[in-house]
Amino acid sequence: MSNPTTPPSFQSLPIAIIGGGITGLAAAQRLHSRGKAFRLFEAAPRLGGVLETVERDDYLVERSADNFLIKTPHARALCEELGLGDQLVPTNADRRGAMVVCRGRLLPVPEGFVLAAPQRLVPIITSSVLSVPGRLRLACEPFIKQRTSTDDESVADFARRRLGREAYERLVQPLIGGIYAGDAERLSMLATTSQFVEQEREFGSLWRAARKKQLAEQRERGARYSAFMAPRGGMKQLIERLIATLPREAMRVGVAVQAIERGPQHWRLRGTNGGSLGEFDAVIVTTPAYHAAELVAKVDALLARELCGIEYSGTSVVCLGLHESQLKRPVSAFGIVAPAMERREAIAISFGSYKYPGRAPEGELLVRVFIGGALQPQLAERDDAELLAIAQRELSQLVGLAGEPRVMEIARWPQRMPQYNVGHLHRIARIEARVAAHPGLQLAGAAYRGVGIPQCIADGQRAAEACNDSAPRRAP
Ligand SMILES: Cc1cc2nc3c(=O)[nH]c(=O)nc-3n(C[C@H](O)[C@H](O)[C@H](O)COP(=O)(O)OP(=O)(O)OC[C@H]3O[C@@H](n4cnc5c(N)ncnc54)[C@H](O)[C@@H]3O)c2cc1C
Repeated sequence: MSNPTTPPSFQSLPIAIIGGGITGLAAAQRLHSRGKAFRLFEAAPRLGGVLETVERDDYLVERSADNFLIKTPHARALCEELGLGDQLVPTNADRRGAMVVCRGRLLPVPEGFVLAAPQRLVPIITSSVLSVPGRLRLACEPFIKQRTSTDDESVADFARRRLGREAYERLVQPLIGGIYAGDAERLSMLATTSQFVEQEREFGSLWRAARKKQLAEQRERGARYSAFMAPRGGMKQLIERLIATLPREAMRVGVAVQAIERGPQHWRLRGTNGGSLGEFDAVIVTTPAYHAAELVAKVDALLARELCGIEYSGTSVVCLGLHESQLKRPVSAFGIVAPAMERREAIAISFGSYKYPGRAPEGELLVRVFIGGALQPQLAERDDAELLAIAQRELSQLVGLAGEPRVMEIARWPQRMPQYNVGHLHRIARIEARVAAHPGLQLAGAAYRGVGIPQCIADGQRAAEACNDSAPRRAP
């Protein structure tokens, strides 16, 4: 396919994009908007990757992500570029906040406790999530000596050192471990929540940093706004709009790439049975890292080894549609997190219809129960009946679920959550150094520089720009 905007004096080959998740689609959209021809190869029969929204009996069910952060601006900016700006909705203002399981009961996560940092003293000191000694230890944080080493450390080590063991076990572990479906004893502080490391370095204390930040924010804007947004029609609205902007003939859906080869002047992709899928000026690989490792194995064995070192966890999401009256003890919060020390079968529960409008019919509730993760991988692999039983058991014990759900949808995401464990940033630096030795090759996606949707979009766009700038131009 020749692209109308390609300068007539040059004839360049297209750029290949492997993987049609949000990263690959964002890369494609950026190349297309720059007038650069591309081919996108997606192994699955549909585009979107992990992002998938389904409609079931008037419920709008997200099988994975249901919103994105707006502080990292790329998802919101892409929606606006695609004309979806007016379709973005903030979280409902009236039920913001989360509950945490504490000695079998539900308590609110103290207002002002953000991931690994206390922001406001009074709500934390008056909350009974922590025992009195636990609260006193947390209050001593400003007096804890600043760490001098700049080496990476685990989320668990950081939180225990600064906030105390109890604050780690009861708050930090479920909040950060939940986001990554990971093991906080292994997750890297620098790769997951480096802002708190920087705060310790700059202010010597998270409390002091929070105080400075609050004063600055009060000066800047006053009222709190939603940190997350979602398209009114769910993530599929974004995926469908992206697809609509891309040339249909450039999309190869249901085509798995098996290998990448490097020729003297171009890259070649091989598909099933070694058949050629074409020649390209550059290749952007956006698959999970373990697939990327297989693809580049013949080009660079050391790069493949580094990619294999990025671990993944899996999770299963049981989505249930219920009548509101079926919850005997409903909570006024967007969700529930469960510390590992509580030994529950669910990592977290999310009330999708409390968070966003239009997710469930009037008088009904959309609830999603997350099972598995790095700490309980075997649970995510249970069969559908067992997963449903786990979800019902957890809901019945925690919020008094009675009766059968009206709607049920089970989403399985085996090996789809990259684990940014201690040393991740060093590994990424080594990967980047090896990739730089192969002009025209780019790796992008959740495995590398951020798992959230905005970071994936940013990474896909970065890779597209890098290829567009560096792809060799060929004489006709
Ligand atoms: C349960 C869950 C909940 C989440 N919740 C949120 C949330 O609320 N907010 C948020 O910001 N993020 C969330 N995330 C994270 C975010 O959704 C993902 O990190 C992001 O969607 C990953 O996009 P990606 O394009 O990098 O990878 P993927 O979506 O994994 O896409 C990679 C694609 O590559 C394809 N592929 C693989 N091998 C080949 C091959 N050989 N040839 C061709 N194609 C191939 C795959 O089929 C896949 O479609 C969540 C993730 C999960 C699993």
